[in-house]
Amino acid sequence: MNIHEYQAKAILREFGVPVPDGHVCYNGASAREWAKRLSEGPWVVKAQIHAGGRGKGGGVKLARTADEVRNTARDMLGMILRTHQTGPEGKVVTRVLVENGCNIGTELYISLLVDRATSKVTVMASTEGGMDIEEVAAKTPEKIFREAIAPLVGLTPFQCRNLAFSLGLTGKLTNKAVKLLQGLYETFIGCDCSLLEINPLVVTKEGDLLCLDAKFGFDDNAVFRHPKIGDMRDYDEEDPNEVEASQHDLSYVSLAGNIGCLVNGAGLAMATMDIIKHSGGNPANFLDVGGGATIERVTEAFKIILSDKNVKGILVNIFGGIMKCDVIATGVIEAAKQVSLKVPLVVRLEGTNVDKGKEILSASGLNIIAADGMADAANKIVQAVAAA
Ligand code: ADP
Ligand code: MG
Repeated sequence: MNIHEYQAKAILREFGVPVPDGHVCYNGASAREWAKRLSEGPWVVKAQIHAGGRGKGGGVKLARTADEVRNTARDMLGMILRTHQTGPEGKVVTRVLVENGCNIGTELYISLLVDRATSKVTVMASTEGGMDIEEVAAKTPEKIFREAIAPLVGLTPFQCRNLAFSLGLTGKLTNKAVKLLQGLYETFIGCDCSLLEINPLVVTKEGDLLCLDAKFGFDDNAVFRHPKIGDMRDYDEEDPNEVEASQHDLSYVSLAGNIGCLVNGAGLAMATMDIIKHSGGNPANFLDVGGGATIERVTEAFKIILSDKNVKGILVNIFGGIMKCDVIATGVIEAAKQVSLKVPLVVRLEGTNVDKGKEILSASGLNIIAADGMADAANKIVQAVAAA
Protein backbone atom coordinates (compact mmCIF):
# COMPACT_ATOMS: atom_id res chain seq x y z
CA MET A 1 0.00 0.00 0.00
CA ASN A 2 1.16 3.54 -0.81
CA ILE A 3 0.18 6.93 0.56
CA HIS A 4 0.45 10.57 -0.51
CA GLU A 5 3.42 12.80 0.24
CA TYR A 6 1.48 14.99 2.71
CA GLN A 7 0.44 11.86 4.65
CA ALA A 8 4.01 10.58 4.57
CA LYS A 9 5.25 13.86 6.00
CA ALA A 10 2.65 13.75 8.79
CA ILE A 11 3.96 10.32 9.83
CA LEU A 12 7.59 11.50 9.72
CA ARG A 13 6.68 14.55 11.82
CA GLU A 14 5.21 12.23 14.49
CA PHE A 15 8.51 10.36 14.64
CA GLY A 16 10.45 13.59 15.00
CA VAL A 17 11.95 13.56 11.50
CA PRO A 18 12.33 17.12 10.12
CA VAL A 19 9.99 18.01 7.25
CA PRO A 20 8.78 21.43 6.02
CA ASP A 21 5.50 22.72 7.50
CA GLY A 22 2.64 22.37 5.06
CA HIS A 23 -1.00 21.48 4.59
CA VAL A 24 -3.10 19.55 2.09
CA CYS A 25 -5.66 21.63 0.14
CA TYR A 26 -8.54 20.76 -2.16
CA ASN A 27 -9.22 24.19 -3.68
CA GLY A 28 -7.47 27.45 -4.50
CA ALA A 29 -9.07 29.54 -1.76
CA SER A 30 -7.97 27.19 1.02
CA ALA A 31 -4.48 26.98 -0.52
CA ARG A 32 -4.23 30.76 -0.22
CA GLU A 33 -5.45 30.74 3.39
CA TRP A 34 -3.12 27.96 4.44
CA ALA A 35 -0.15 29.68 2.80
CA LYS A 36 -0.75 32.78 4.94
CA ARG A 37 -1.07 30.68 8.10
CA LEU A 38 2.13 28.77 7.35
CA SER A 39 4.64 31.57 6.77
CA GLU A 40 5.43 34.71 4.83
CA GLY A 41 6.56 32.68 1.84
CA PRO A 42 7.83 31.70 -0.55
CA TRP A 43 5.84 28.49 -0.75
CA VAL A 44 5.86 25.40 -2.90
CA VAL A 45 2.63 23.95 -4.32
CA LYS A 46 2.90 20.21 -4.94
CA ALA A 47 0.46 17.95 -6.79
CA GLN A 48 -0.44 14.91 -4.67
CA ILE A 49 -0.48 11.76 -6.79
CA HIS A 50 1.03 8.35 -6.09
CA ALA A 51 3.91 8.82 -8.52
CA GLY A 52 7.29 10.47 -8.56
CA GLY A 53 8.85 12.70 -11.19
CA ARG A 54 6.26 15.41 -10.49
CA GLY A 55 8.87 18.16 -10.54
CA LYS A 56 9.76 17.55 -14.17
CA GLY A 57 6.10 17.06 -15.13
CA GLY A 58 4.94 20.44 -13.78
CA GLY A 59 3.56 19.14 -10.50
CA VAL A 60 5.89 21.10 -8.17
CA LYS A 61 5.79 24.90 -8.42
CA LEU A 62 7.25 27.77 -6.45
CA ALA A 63 4.90 30.63 -5.45
CA ARG A 64 6.07 33.97 -4.05
CA THR A 65 2.76 35.50 -2.94
CA ALA A 66 -0.36 34.00 -1.36
CA ASP A 67 -2.34 34.93 -4.50
CA GLU A 68 0.20 33.07 -6.57
CA VAL A 69 -0.29 30.02 -4.32
CA ARG A 70 -4.04 30.20 -4.98
CA ASN A 71 -3.61 30.54 -8.76
CA THR A 72 -1.04 27.75 -8.96
CA ALA A 73 -3.23 25.46 -6.86
CA ARG A 74 -6.22 26.26 -9.09
CA ASP A 75 -4.23 25.42 -12.21
CA MET A 76 -2.93 22.18 -10.73
CA LEU A 77 -6.21 20.87 -9.31
CA GLY A 78 -8.09 18.92 -11.95
CA MET A 79 -5.16 18.73 -14.33
CA ILE A 80 -3.87 15.43 -15.65
CA LEU A 81 -0.29 15.09 -14.53
CA ARG A 82 1.97 12.92 -16.64
CA THR A 83 5.34 11.79 -15.30
CA HIS A 84 7.65 8.91 -16.22
CA GLN A 85 5.99 6.93 -13.41
CA THR A 86 2.32 7.54 -14.29
CA GLY A 87 2.47 6.18 -17.83
CA PRO A 88 1.08 8.12 -20.80
CA GLU A 89 -2.47 8.23 -19.39
CA GLY A 90 -1.34 10.32 -16.41
CA LYS A 91 -3.21 10.94 -13.17
CA VAL A 92 -5.83 13.52 -12.22
CA VAL A 93 -4.71 15.87 -9.43
CA THR A 94 -7.42 16.18 -6.77
CA ARG A 95 -5.32 17.54 -3.89
CA VAL A 96 -2.24 19.69 -3.52
CA LEU A 97 0.25 20.17 -0.72
CA VAL A 98 1.08 23.79 0.12
CA GLU A 99 4.32 23.94 2.05
CA ASN A 100 7.07 26.32 3.03
CA GLY A 101 9.78 26.69 0.44
CA CYS A 102 13.30 26.17 1.67
CA ASN A 103 16.74 27.38 0.65
CA ILE A 104 18.33 24.32 -0.84
CA GLY A 105 22.09 23.93 -0.44
CA THR A 106 22.56 20.35 -1.61
CA GLU A 107 20.16 17.52 -2.43
CA LEU A 108 20.89 14.02 -1.08
CA TYR A 109 19.16 10.66 -1.35
CA ILE A 110 18.22 8.27 1.48
CA SER A 111 16.08 5.17 1.44
CA LEU A 112 15.36 2.22 3.69
CA LEU A 113 14.15 -1.03 2.22
CA VAL A 114 14.05 -4.74 2.85
CA ASP A 115 17.01 -6.18 0.98
CA ARG A 116 16.14 -9.70 -0.10
CA ALA A 117 19.78 -10.61 -0.76
CA THR A 118 20.83 -10.05 2.87
CA SER A 119 17.36 -10.48 4.45
CA LYS A 120 17.99 -7.23 6.29
CA VAL A 121 16.58 -3.75 6.34
CA THR A 122 19.16 -1.72 4.48
CA VAL A 123 19.84 2.00 4.29
CA MET A 124 20.87 3.31 0.89
CA ALA A 125 22.35 6.78 0.67
CA SER A 126 23.67 8.82 -2.20
CA THR A 127 24.99 12.27 -2.90
CA GLU A 128 22.91 12.28 -6.09
CA GLY A 129 19.67 13.53 -4.53
CA GLY A 130 16.76 14.65 -6.69
CA MET A 131 17.88 12.25 -9.43
CA ASP A 132 16.31 9.00 -10.52
CA ILE A 133 18.08 6.51 -8.22
CA GLU A 134 17.74 3.67 -10.76
CA GLU A 135 19.78 5.78 -13.15
CA VAL A 136 22.44 6.47 -10.51
CA ALA A 137 22.60 2.74 -9.71
CA ALA A 138 23.04 1.89 -13.39
CA LYS A 139 25.55 4.58 -14.37
CA THR A 140 27.49 5.45 -11.21
CA PRO A 141 26.95 2.65 -8.68
CA GLU A 142 29.97 3.86 -6.67
CA LYS A 143 27.89 6.86 -5.62
CA ILE A 144 25.47 4.68 -3.63
CA PHE A 145 26.40 3.74 -0.06
CA ARG A 146 24.75 0.95 1.92
CA GLU A 147 24.44 -0.14 5.54
CA ALA A 148 22.67 -3.42 6.29
CA ILE A 149 20.97 -3.40 9.71
CA ALA A 150 21.20 -6.34 12.10
CA PRO A 151 17.60 -6.85 13.27
CA LEU A 152 18.41 -7.43 16.95
CA VAL A 153 20.83 -4.50 17.21
CA GLY A 154 19.05 -1.95 15.05
CA LEU A 155 20.68 0.94 13.22
CA THR A 156 23.73 1.91 15.26
CA PRO A 157 25.13 5.45 15.67
CA PHE A 158 28.34 4.15 14.11
CA GLN A 159 26.52 3.10 10.96
CA CYS A 160 24.75 6.46 10.84
CA ARG A 161 28.04 8.35 11.11
CA ASN A 162 29.51 6.16 8.40
CA LEU A 163 26.64 7.10 6.11
CA ALA A 164 26.89 10.78 7.05
CA PHE A 165 30.61 10.84 6.20
CA SER A 166 29.97 9.07 2.88
CA LEU A 167 27.50 11.85 2.07
CA GLY A 168 30.21 14.43 2.80
CA LEU A 169 28.50 15.81 5.89
CA THR A 170 30.74 17.34 8.57
CA GLY A 171 30.53 19.12 11.93
CA LYS A 172 27.07 19.66 13.41
CA LEU A 173 25.45 18.16 10.33
CA THR A 174 26.87 14.76 11.25
CA ASN A 175 24.93 14.70 14.52
CA LYS A 176 21.79 15.93 12.82
CA ALA A 177 22.17 13.17 10.25
CA VAL A 178 22.56 10.50 12.97
CA LYS A 179 19.36 11.68 14.64
CA LEU A 180 17.50 11.86 11.32
CA LEU A 181 18.62 8.40 10.19
CA GLN A 182 17.58 6.87 13.50
CA GLY A 183 14.23 8.61 13.22
CA LEU A 184 13.77 7.14 9.75
CA TYR A 185 14.65 3.67 11.02
CA GLU A 186 12.17 3.96 13.92
CA THR A 187 9.51 5.06 11.45
CA PHE A 188 10.31 2.15 9.14
CA ILE A 189 10.06 -0.45 11.88
CA GLY A 190 7.22 1.25 13.76
CA CYS A 191 5.00 1.39 10.68
CA ASP A 192 5.90 -2.01 9.14
CA CYS A 193 7.23 -0.39 6.00
CA SER A 194 8.56 -2.15 2.96
CA LEU A 195 10.07 1.07 1.62
CA LEU A 196 10.81 4.54 2.93
CA GLU A 197 12.45 6.85 0.43
CA ILE A 198 13.52 10.45 0.96
CA ASN A 199 14.46 12.04 -2.34
CA PRO A 200 15.62 14.66 -1.87
CA LEU A 201 16.91 15.04 1.66
CA VAL A 202 18.34 18.55 1.60
CA VAL A 203 21.01 20.44 3.46
CA THR A 204 19.55 23.95 3.68
CA LYS A 205 21.64 27.09 3.31
CA GLU A 206 20.92 27.66 7.03
CA GLY A 207 22.67 24.36 7.82
CA ASP A 208 19.69 22.12 8.58
CA LEU A 209 18.61 18.78 7.24
CA LEU A 210 15.09 18.56 5.84
CA CYS A 211 13.13 15.83 4.04
CA LEU A 212 11.60 17.56 1.02
CA ASP A 213 9.94 14.49 -0.47
CA ALA A 214 8.88 11.21 1.11
CA LYS A 215 7.57 7.97 -0.29
CA PHE A 216 6.30 5.07 1.81
CA GLY A 217 5.49 1.50 0.88
CA PHE A 218 3.73 -0.57 3.53
CA ASP A 219 3.57 -4.32 3.93
CA ASP A 220 -0.11 -4.98 3.04
CA ASN A 221 -0.22 -7.92 5.45
CA ALA A 222 0.66 -5.66 8.37
CA VAL A 223 -1.59 -2.68 7.62
CA PHE A 224 -4.24 -4.11 9.99
CA ARG A 225 -1.86 -3.30 12.84
CA HIS A 226 -1.93 0.39 11.88
CA PRO A 227 -5.56 1.46 11.41
CA LYS A 228 -4.53 5.13 11.07
CA ILE A 229 -2.30 4.23 8.14
CA GLY A 230 -5.00 1.98 6.67
CA ASP A 231 -7.34 4.99 6.64
CA MET A 232 -4.85 6.87 4.49
CA ARG A 233 -5.46 4.49 1.58
CA ASP A 234 -6.65 6.45 -1.47
CA TYR A 235 -8.70 4.12 -3.66
CA ASP A 236 -8.68 6.66 -6.52
CA GLU A 237 -4.95 6.02 -6.89
CA GLU A 238 -5.33 2.26 -7.26
CA ASP A 239 -6.26 0.03 -10.18
CA PRO A 240 -10.11 -0.19 -9.97
CA ASN A 241 -9.98 -3.91 -10.82
CA GLU A 242 -7.56 -4.57 -7.96
CA VAL A 243 -9.82 -2.70 -5.53
CA GLU A 244 -12.87 -4.65 -6.77
CA ALA A 245 -10.95 -7.93 -6.44
CA SER A 246 -9.84 -7.21 -2.87
CA GLN A 247 -13.48 -6.61 -1.92
CA HIS A 248 -14.24 -10.18 -3.05
CA ASP A 249 -11.20 -11.64 -1.28
CA LEU A 250 -9.47 -12.34 -4.57
CA SER A 251 -5.75 -11.68 -4.92
CA TYR A 252 -5.51 -9.90 -8.25
CA VAL A 253 -2.67 -7.98 -9.85
CA SER A 254 -3.14 -6.64 -13.36
CA LEU A 255 -0.30 -7.06 -15.84
CA ALA A 256 0.43 -5.94 -19.39
CA GLY A 257 -0.26 -9.19 -21.34
CA ASN A 258 -3.43 -10.55 -23.01
CA ILE A 259 -4.03 -13.98 -21.43
CA GLY A 260 -6.28 -13.79 -18.38
CA CYS A 261 -5.46 -16.37 -15.69
CA LEU A 262 -7.85 -17.83 -13.13
CA VAL A 263 -6.02 -20.07 -10.71
CA ASN A 264 -6.40 -21.34 -7.16
CA GLY A 265 -3.38 -20.90 -4.91
CA ALA A 266 -0.65 -18.29 -5.22
CA GLY A 267 2.07 -20.81 -6.07
CA LEU A 268 0.04 -22.37 -8.87
CA ALA A 269 -0.81 -18.86 -10.12
CA MET A 270 2.89 -17.97 -10.31
CA ALA A 271 3.68 -21.26 -12.06
CA THR A 272 0.84 -20.64 -14.53
CA MET A 273 2.23 -17.22 -15.41
CA ASP A 274 5.67 -18.75 -15.89
CA ILE A 275 4.46 -21.47 -18.21
CA ILE A 276 2.41 -19.01 -20.29
CA LYS A 277 5.58 -16.98 -20.76
CA HIS A 278 7.52 -20.15 -21.55
CA SER A 279 4.98 -21.01 -24.24
CA GLY A 280 5.41 -17.61 -25.88
CA GLY A 281 2.39 -15.84 -24.38
CA ASN A 282 1.94 -13.00 -21.91
CA PRO A 283 -0.27 -13.13 -18.81
CA ALA A 284 -2.76 -10.27 -18.38
CA ASN A 285 -2.97 -10.77 -14.65
CA PHE A 286 -2.15 -12.73 -11.56
CA LEU A 287 -5.34 -14.05 -9.99
CA ASP A 288 -5.64 -16.37 -7.04
CA VAL A 289 -9.27 -17.26 -6.26
CA GLY A 290 -8.17 -18.97 -3.06
CA GLY A 291 -8.59 -22.49 -1.78
CA GLY A 292 -12.31 -22.41 -1.10
CA ALA A 293 -13.55 -20.59 -4.19
CA THR A 294 -17.35 -20.56 -4.54
CA ILE A 295 -19.35 -20.23 -7.77
CA GLU A 296 -19.94 -16.56 -6.90
CA ARG A 297 -16.24 -15.94 -6.47
CA VAL A 298 -15.34 -17.66 -9.73
CA THR A 299 -17.99 -15.53 -11.48
CA GLU A 300 -16.59 -12.34 -9.92
CA ALA A 301 -13.11 -13.39 -10.99
CA PHE A 302 -14.30 -13.89 -14.59
CA LYS A 303 -15.93 -10.47 -14.60
CA ILE A 304 -12.78 -8.80 -13.34
CA ILE A 305 -10.59 -10.58 -15.89
CA LEU A 306 -12.95 -9.67 -18.74
CA SER A 307 -13.22 -6.01 -17.75
CA ASP A 308 -9.58 -5.76 -18.84
CA LYS A 309 -9.89 -4.87 -22.54
CA ASN A 310 -6.51 -6.40 -23.35
CA VAL A 311 -7.69 -9.92 -22.45
CA LYS A 312 -7.94 -12.06 -25.61
CA GLY A 313 -8.20 -15.46 -23.95
CA ILE A 314 -8.58 -17.05 -20.51
CA LEU A 315 -6.74 -19.94 -18.94
CA VAL A 316 -8.40 -21.60 -15.95
CA ASN A 317 -5.93 -23.74 -14.05
CA ILE A 318 -7.42 -25.34 -10.96
CA PHE A 319 -6.18 -27.97 -8.61
CA GLY A 320 -9.04 -29.62 -6.76
CA GLY A 321 -7.66 -30.27 -3.32
CA ILE A 322 -10.02 -28.87 -0.72
CA MET A 323 -12.34 -28.03 -3.59
CA LYS A 324 -13.65 -30.75 -5.85
CA CYS A 325 -13.19 -30.49 -9.61
CA ASP A 326 -16.90 -31.05 -10.34
CA VAL A 327 -17.80 -28.04 -8.18
CA ILE A 328 -15.19 -25.95 -10.00
CA ALA A 329 -16.46 -27.11 -13.40
CA THR A 330 -20.01 -26.11 -12.45
CA GLY A 331 -18.71 -22.75 -11.29
CA VAL A 332 -16.78 -22.16 -14.51
CA ILE A 333 -19.84 -23.00 -16.65
CA GLU A 334 -22.12 -20.82 -14.56
CA ALA A 335 -19.69 -17.93 -14.72
CA ALA A 336 -19.06 -18.34 -18.46
CA LYS A 337 -22.82 -18.17 -19.06
CA GLN A 338 -23.34 -15.14 -16.83
CA VAL A 339 -20.59 -13.06 -18.42
CA SER A 340 -21.38 -14.24 -21.99
CA LEU A 341 -17.84 -15.24 -22.71
CA LYS A 342 -16.58 -14.32 -26.19
CA VAL A 343 -12.86 -15.08 -25.93
CA PRO A 344 -11.35 -18.59 -26.05
CA LEU A 345 -11.35 -20.42 -22.72
CA VAL A 346 -8.92 -23.22 -21.88
CA VAL A 347 -9.59 -25.21 -18.71
CA ARG A 348 -7.16 -27.51 -17.00
CA LEU A 349 -8.45 -29.41 -13.98
CA GLU A 350 -6.57 -31.81 -11.76
CA GLY A 351 -7.28 -33.45 -8.43
CA THR A 352 -10.34 -34.74 -6.60
CA ASN A 353 -13.25 -35.79 -8.89
CA VAL A 354 -11.33 -34.69 -11.99
CA ASP A 355 -13.19 -37.11 -14.31
CA LYS A 356 -16.56 -35.87 -13.14
CA GLY A 357 -15.38 -32.30 -13.66
CA LYS A 358 -14.25 -32.99 -17.22
CA GLU A 359 -17.56 -34.69 -18.02
CA ILE A 360 -19.49 -31.68 -16.79
CA LEU A 361 -17.37 -29.36 -18.94
CA SER A 362 -17.74 -31.39 -22.14
CA ALA A 363 -21.49 -31.87 -21.60
CA SER A 364 -22.03 -28.13 -21.15
CA GLY A 365 -22.07 -27.38 -24.86
CA LEU A 366 -19.96 -24.30 -24.21
CA ASN A 367 -16.90 -23.63 -26.32
CA ILE A 368 -14.41 -24.76 -23.70
CA ILE A 369 -11.05 -26.19 -24.70
CA ALA A 370 -10.08 -28.93 -22.26
CA ALA A 371 -6.40 -29.42 -21.48
CA ASP A 372 -4.33 -32.18 -19.89
CA GLY A 373 -1.51 -30.84 -17.79
CA MET A 374 -0.04 -27.38 -17.49
CA ALA A 375 2.14 -27.39 -20.61
CA ASP A 376 -0.78 -28.53 -22.78
CA ALA A 377 -3.01 -25.84 -21.26
CA ALA A 378 -0.46 -23.08 -21.83
CA ASN A 379 0.18 -24.16 -25.43
CA LYS A 380 -3.53 -24.35 -26.19
CA ILE A 381 -4.35 -20.88 -24.86
CA VAL A 382 -1.34 -19.29 -26.58
CA GLN A 383 -2.39 -20.90 -29.90
CA ALA A 384 -6.06 -19.97 -29.45
CA VAL A 385 -5.17 -16.34 -28.78
CA ALA A 386 -2.81 -16.23 -31.75
CA ALA A 387 -5.51 -17.71 -34.03
CA ALA A 388 -8.29 -15.38 -32.82
P1 ADP B 1 9.14 14.57 -7.37
O1 ADP B 1 10.13 13.62 -6.80
O2 ADP B 1 7.81 13.96 -7.58
O3 ADP B 1 9.64 15.29 -8.58
P2 ADP B 1 9.82 16.35 -5.14
O4 ADP B 1 9.01 16.53 -3.92
O5 ADP B 1 11.07 15.53 -5.00
O6 ADP B 1 8.86 15.73 -6.27
O7 ADP B 1 10.17 17.77 -5.72
C1 ADP B 1 10.99 17.99 -6.83
C2 ADP B 1 12.01 19.07 -6.54
O8 ADP B 1 11.34 20.27 -6.16
C3 ADP B 1 12.93 18.73 -5.40
O9 ADP B 1 14.04 17.98 -5.83
C4 ADP B 1 13.32 20.09 -4.88
O10 ADP B 1 14.41 20.60 -5.65
C5 ADP B 1 12.10 20.95 -5.16
N1 ADP B 1 11.27 21.12 -3.94
C6 ADP B 1 10.32 20.26 -3.47
N2 ADP B 1 9.80 20.69 -2.31
C7 ADP B 1 10.42 21.85 -2.02
C8 ADP B 1 10.32 22.80 -0.93
N3 ADP B 1 9.47 22.65 0.10
N4 ADP B 1 11.14 23.88 -0.97
C9 ADP B 1 12.00 24.06 -2.00
N5 ADP B 1 12.13 23.23 -3.03
C10 ADP B 1 11.35 22.13 -3.06
MG1 MG C 1 11.26 13.37 -5.17
